[in-house]
Amino acid sequence: MYFTDFDFEDEVLDALDAMRFEKCTPIQEQTLQPLMEGRDLIGVAQTGTGKTAAYLLPVLNRLCTGEYPEDAINCVIMAPTRELAQQIDRQLEGFTYFMQVSSVAVYGGNDGQRYEQELRGMARGADIIVATPGRLISHITLGNIDLSKVSFFILDEADRMLDMGFYNDIMTIAKQLPKERQTMLFSATMPEEIRKLASDLLTDPLQVTLALAKPADGITQQAYICHEGQKLGIINHIFDNESSERVILFASRKTKVKEIARTIRKHGFNVGEMHSDLSQSERDEIMFQYKSRKIDMIVATDILARGIDIDDIRIVINYDVPRDCDDYIHRIGRTARAGTKGRAITFVSEEDQDYFKRIEDFIEQDVPKMEVPASLGEAPAYEPKTKKGKGARGRNGHGKDGNTKPRRKGNGANRNSRKKQNNNGGKAAGKPATASQQATATPQDAANGEAKKKKRNNRRHYRRPKRENGGEGKKE
Ligand code: AMP
Repeated sequence: MYFTDFDFEDEVLDALDAMRFEKCTPIQEQTLQPLMEGRDLIGVAQTGTGKTAAYLLPVLNRLCTGEYPEDAINCVIMAPTRELAQQIDRQLEGFTYFMQVSSVAVYGGNDGQRYEQELRGMARGADIIVATPGRLISHITLGNIDLSKVSFFILDEADRMLDMGFYNDIMTIAKQLPKERQTMLFSATMPEEIRKLASDLLTDPLQVTLALAKPADGITQQAYICHEGQKLGIINHIFDNESSERVILFASRKTKVKEIARTIRKHGFNVGEMHSDLSQSERDEIMFQYKSRKIDMIVATDILARGIDIDDIRIVINYDVPRDCDDYIHRIGRTARAGTKGRAITFVSEEDQDYFKRIEDFIEQDVPKMEVPASLGEAPAYEPKTKKGKGARGRNGHGKDGNTKPRRKGNGANRNSRKKQNNNGGKAAGKPATASQQATATPQDAANGEAKKKKRNNRRHYRRPKRENGGEGKKE
């Protein structure tokens, strides 16, 4: 299904064109239409599936009609970590390029200047706030923010937020919002606490579940069954024959990350490290260096397993086996994003064999075992004790506050001119849905005339140059 099959405003279609988004991912196919109709939604989907666009596009489509107050916060998006908040904000920046819709990311840090930036962004009347729970609570407590006009409330990676102990914060924030609103909850898993949260916050939600979290098809998985002391030699062996660019190496503990980074740096690798001991500006600097290819490899804790938006990572190495199957999926899901190909290599020491077997059971695949080079000595056999098992729970929690990147609202001049009749009779209208709405996620072709259809078909073959006049309002 193509984005042009949906009844999106031109500004949204222009942004999709500019971002080279053409075909919907499965989660988008299933959720765009009901969300555009105002349904509350539970989306069970992991990162890498396109869930961010799935919830942003319907909201932006509504906001760019100009039918919502200009001087109020209309949408709140909650994310567990500053990295994810930044990632969402970056997608927003792309999608809102051609429209008079502004956003501010509220994810903190201890830096007073950043705090001021957040305040300014909110004072300018950002339409959308992307926030980590702790930081938003502190703005609410200090009376910096008015959420009484919010029409859209989105919880992204809700399971992660609950793991990090944000249940009460989320409920406190929800109490500030109008009851009449559209609420969307996205989560990679559906444990009992998420069901409870959903029943507290959502009204008659549609639930869309993507097939249980499994690695993307484009990822070639491999494992080395080895002794701890052989891991460094295996890294050298792997990169003897190929480039070490666009590589992420995960380890579970930050002490381990620091140690590995130090050691492999000595072996001549161009490497940065990422863990929760770094300040936000240090983390941003590492990400900048990695994206601009000044460093080849990042050694990271699971802090990077979810909130990183780089599409061309070639190889993910698990220096150790994550204790949680979801973390394995998330780590290796950093490669082969958006339909590309990548490799995920896991080092399995003797003490990790049982954990790895659980992962193999969970993903229902035997991961091919690679031969440890003979020069590194004899490797252990793969003899896990666990025959069957489910992924162990209990994930790492990570920092929740970070930097600010407020964007300026346009002057709004075009905004009113873009206003059009709201067929659903007001904000977040159409809720609760009719039975037919509940049963379907089909496009609205029927409503569109022949001319519109023709225009849309033409659009599939036409590529708008990256920037035209339409984006001027976004500039400072
Ligand atoms: P997400 O799961 O939202 O983190 O998205 C994963 C990546 O896929 C992001 O880099 C998106 O920009 C990209 N993406 C999402 N939807 C599409 C699409 N329909 N076509 C191409 N890329 C997409």
